[in-house]
Amino acid sequence: MRIAVVGAGVSGSYLGHMLHKRGHDVEIFESSRKENQWAVCAWGASRNMLAKFSNRAGLDFDNYIFHVGKTLKMDLPNHVREYLDLRGLVTYNKQKWEHDLLKDLKITYGFRCTQQNFPFKEYDYVIDCTGMHRSLLPRSDEDFLIPAYEYLVENVQGMDEFYVIGYKGARGYFWYFPLDNNRGYVGAGDIDKKYAGVEEFLSEHPEARVARKVGRPIRLAPPRRMEPFCAGNVIGVGESIGCVFPILGEGIIPSLICCDIFLEVLDGSKQKGFDFEQYRKKVLKKFDYYDDVYRIVRLKMKNKLNMVRHLPLMMSMYRNMKKEESRFGFEISLDKMTRFVKAL
Ligand SMILES: Cc1cc2nc3c(=O)[nH]c(=O)nc-3n(C[C@H](O)[C@H](O)[C@H](O)COP(=O)(O)OP(=O)(O)OC[C@H]3O[C@@H](n4cnc5c(N)ncnc54)[C@H](O)[C@@H]3O)c2cc1C
Repeated sequence: MRIAVVGAGVSGSYLGHMLHKRGHDVEIFESSRKENQWAVCAWGASRNMLAKFSNRAGLDFDNYIFHVGKTLKMDLPNHVREYLDLRGLVTYNKQKWEHDLLKDLKITYGFRCTQQNFPFKEYDYVIDCTGMHRSLLPRSDEDFLIPAYEYLVENVQGMDEFYVIGYKGARGYFWYFPLDNNRGYVGAGDIDKKYAGVEEFLSEHPEARVARKVGRPIRLAPPRRMEPFCAGNVIGVGESIGCVFPILGEGIIPSLICCDIFLEVLDGSKQKGFDFEQYRKKVLKKFDYYDDVYRIVRLKMKNKLNMVRHLPLMMSMYRNMKKEESRFGFEISLDKMTRFVKAL
């Protein structure tokens, strides 16, 4: 089949690679110029899951790991401090991982695809992997994005663990994610665009050099609020259809899970063509509880979360996260989760 993959981020590179491996005629389109392309992200995710995806794609994930986390320190409002035991949360060279997947693929850089300029008819399917841009699919009225930016910093001393500061009302958080050789990402997502902690971090670490500043909003609206997933011969995969865990703004693993759902449906519908409805149902089912998590975040933002009335939402988040503990890469404890949500 002739398939265009639009966007060469985590979804586009993995999906393009896997489709090419299956013998499809794949062409990738990326809006950034090759020399400017950067994997905008803090590069943190679960080693357990990335090892599996890498393995499927013929890569050895150990070659990409920068830092294996032991604990995550969390500062919450009202001087509450929590520590989470990490169980596989790592930072890795996301830029190289994606670059390696794109080797041997036909790729056009510097082309911003739009619904007007894209030659849809030349392809059997066009996959929208444009992340928060969702460039080839209709907008959703229920979309919700949170502004974010970060610095890649070098020569940081005394910061060798993951650190976050949660903002009051779940309105965002600050992060420091350590990479290799005293490098790290310091940044924040914040609905109020105040980004508390970032400038403070830089003034507390005068030795740190800013090597790069990047940013873009993160989509928090989950798949249930991001329909349609398909329009004409366009199919959305990854963050373009809301595959991001809402309370963390974490989209690497959800996007890759979405790629696998797409591949499973495509593999199973060889004769009849892609089964759009089956894809829709599977995505909605897999990411069903993300909507409960999203509701918790939005209720918190509006100061309307009631721990008694909204207990079913809290329990849904806990039970589902616990089931997928290894996918998150940190301990999931009801006790800590309750304290965390209450403190925010
Ligand atoms: C600052 C920041 C930090 C983050 N940190 C983490 C983290 O540590 N861990 C985690 O799991 N998640 C993190 N996320 C979220 C995560 O990066 C995304 O959810 C994930 O990358 C989504 O993957 P994707 O491939 O769907 O989209 P993207 O990775 O965004 O890729 C989309 C690609 O499409 C290209 N593109 C866009 N529009 C067009 C167009 N019209 N034509 C052609 N190309 C186009 C873009 O240039 C980009 O290369 C972070 C996000 C941000 C913004």
